[in-house]
Amino acid sequence: MHESLLIENGTLLSTGAVPSVRRNHSILIKDGLIARIAPGSRIGAFSGKRIDASGKVVVPGLINAHTHLYSTFARGMLKVRPSHDFMGVLRNLWWRLDCALTEEDCYSSALVALIDSIRHGTTTLIDHHASPRAAAGSLDAIARAVGETGLRACLCYEVSDRHGARSAREGLDENARFIRKCQEHGDGNLRALFGLHASFTLSDKTLEEAAGLGHSLGAGFHIHAAEALGDQQATLRTAKASVIARLEKQGILGRRSVAAHCVHVSQKEIDMLAQSGTAVAHNPQSNLNNAVGTANVVEMARRGAVLGLGTDAMTANMLEELRVALWAQRAETRNPSAGFREVTGALFDGNPRIASRIFGLRFGELRKGCVGDVAIFDYDPPTPLVSDNALGHALFGLSQARVDTTVVGGRVLMEHGRLLIDVDEERANERARELARNLWQRS
Ligand SMILES: [Zn+2]
Repeated sequence: MHESLLIENGTLLSTGAVPSVRRNHSILIKDGLIARIAPGSRIGAFSGKRIDASGKVVVPGLINAHTHLYSTFARGMLKVRPSHDFMGVLRNLWWRLDCALTEEDCYSSALVALIDSIRHGTTTLIDHHASPRAAAGSLDAIARAVGETGLRACLCYEVSDRHGARSAREGLDENARFIRKCQEHGDGNLRALFGLHASFTLSDKTLEEAAGLGHSLGAGFHIHAAEALGDQQATLRTAKASVIARLEKQGILGRRSVAAHCVHVSQKEIDMLAQSGTAVAHNPQSNLNNAVGTANVVEMARRGAVLGLGTDAMTANMLEELRVALWAQRAETRNPSAGFREVTGALFDGNPRIASRIFGLRFGELRKGCVGDVAIFDYDPPTPLVSDNALGHALFGLSQARVDTTVVGGRVLMEHGRLLIDVDEERANERARELARNLWQRS
């Protein structure tokens, strides 16, 4: 059920392709969408819920173009052996973790990560899930957490041959089952893509089967692509093609697909991504942490690729990721002017375009007809905030400010820092700690 909501007298910072700032404006949200925006109290008679946003900054809800809700239990994980390369990171941490996940772990880790997203004004997430010992039904467990938090999410299961044919089969089945379920019982806040782990862990047979299934279901795909150089090297060795060329050959690229990372791609591959309309999800913090390199987002944007920004589960705070995206471009190129337009464009224009393709709604702007998803920041700027410097304030000011209120489709999920969802945050955290301790012991 959609609720009507009036957000009154805020400073509206609309993002999208052309940012704008309007002072002392109100937003009326009806039937899940922004119905009207007007100065001051000119909205007229209204009898629903009101939120006073005076002295605060209202922005469109933030979008995370690539994350892993399951990775919550990696925080502080004990006895992780040091890794010398990206394969070591996967073997010593991620594959050790995901292999130990139970269905309850999937639900619990998603729930606390989603609450964290509400607290940081992130209202839509595109997730990539793996739990090889509990694949069947795992997306339902995550979907349950999504439903309880009221956020929007697009889910998939990352198919891989890394644990053998049976595990790959279970991954294929889980994607197909969940995509059908989403198509048949449309929940407005939930979508599905066909998930694939990465080229180097997928045999030709599995990739072909995934492509065939995905195409028959009319689904896009979500895959890690050329995250580390090893993905390219292994794909060249076994498939005699580059990663992106291999995906193109199987029809995996396209306007509904998301390729995460693309750190090690040639200009020819960038052109394939751009021409196919595939969304590239850039994850700078993860790339820096794993020491795999920095994606050339300036070149990707120049060649017309649809560029978005994800966190790869490093944070729920999209503005923190934005800052690091900028520092990474500048450190990589030793150019203190590099990347501003590209990284702000990825978060504020690219991510809404990606979400719009997946959800069939308009995202990323404060204007009539766009989704009624907003984050209200407790931010009283010490310098003038105007349309021309709105992105500078987002990077250097809003990113350091507290999110006061989070709204999805007109439903208030958090108001003045207090959660209004039917989830006990303390109990959710307590249960997560118990489950994480158990998981660490048995992994
Ligand atoms: Zn990832």
